[in-house]
Amino acid sequence: MEVLFRESGIYLPEIDLWLDNTEPCACTWISHGHSDHARGCHGKAIGTPVTLRFYRMRLWLGENNTEPVQHPLEFSESMDWNGARLTAFPASHILGAAQLLIQYKNERLVYTGDIKLRRPLAGETTQPLQCDRLIIESTFGLPIYKLLERDAAVSAIVHFARECLADGVTPVFIGYALGRGQEIVHVLCEAGIPTAVHGAIAKFIPVYEECGYGFNGWEPYDARATEGKALVVVPSHSSTLEVSGKAVRIAYVSGWAALDNARTRSGAEELIPYSDHADFDELLSLVTLSGAKDVDVVHGYTEPFAHILRTRGFSAAAPQRAGDRTSVEAEG
Ligand SMILES: [Zn+2]
Repeated sequence: MEVLFRESGIYLPEIDLWLDNTEPCACTWISHGHSDHARGCHGKAIGTPVTLRFYRMRLWLGENNTEPVQHPLEFSESMDWNGARLTAFPASHILGAAQLLIQYKNERLVYTGDIKLRRPLAGETTQPLQCDRLIIESTFGLPIYKLLERDAAVSAIVHFARECLADGVTPVFIGYALGRGQEIVHVLCEAGIPTAVHGAIAKFIPVYEECGYGFNGWEPYDARATEGKALVVVPSHSSTLEVSGKAVRIAYVSGWAALDNARTRSGAEELIPYSDHADFDELLSLVTLSGAKDVDVVHGYTEPFAHILRTRGFSAAAPQRAGDRTSVEAEG
């Protein structure tokens, strides 16, 4: 199947389908709700029901735009599309995130979107897929990235919060607005730790709750009432944080926390290297388990990771796309 890598997304001309096109188009698959994937007012949008919900929450409709036609695709369900069969499978990234299996003629192509192999703190767990051709991300595609398993991350988050509160210090967690933020709040709530949540994170909590994840005991962040609580804020808010009369200690929960200079870059005292992206070993496992004859690496350390794959005997390429985020800190 012909695959065209463009700055705004990936295009499959034989079946007239875009993958994660960030600019308006006739029809695109949306892998998940992060803003660098779920954007643009498209004619038609295909995604899991949760992803389409996040997409609608983020969608700004201009004067001349009407709401896109939406095709929800549940996990493990299939739909026919211009002679191809499309099936969604979990990606262990944020809630609702999906890989897309495209079966066309005798070829199986898998587009992972953002993915990891481990079970997420809250969300669906990956199902590794076999295919002929794999298009995979490589946000953490260097061997220096070794990230925590789920249970170790939960222990680190809870231990840090309890230790701070016992010391009379306010624990502050930096999380992204969608995904990491809700996952940290979920972990703290499950541990019975009172938690105050920044509005940018709080607005997505109801979607997680509707999918069955517990959030008992959180409340909206109020600078005048932070005593005895853990705070969960977005990165842009951490530098302007106000708390009521107490010292704060900041934890940075991110794959980027694995870097040697993470403490300086983040301003955090506690580094918890956990991500909703695969680390290097998980990426290698995903490629190996796929059995793919051809691998295309997109996003992140594309050329270095493709080179590593080639040295291990895989047929791998890093298609040139303007705007790739190689070595640039992005959501991770
Ligand atoms: Zn993402």
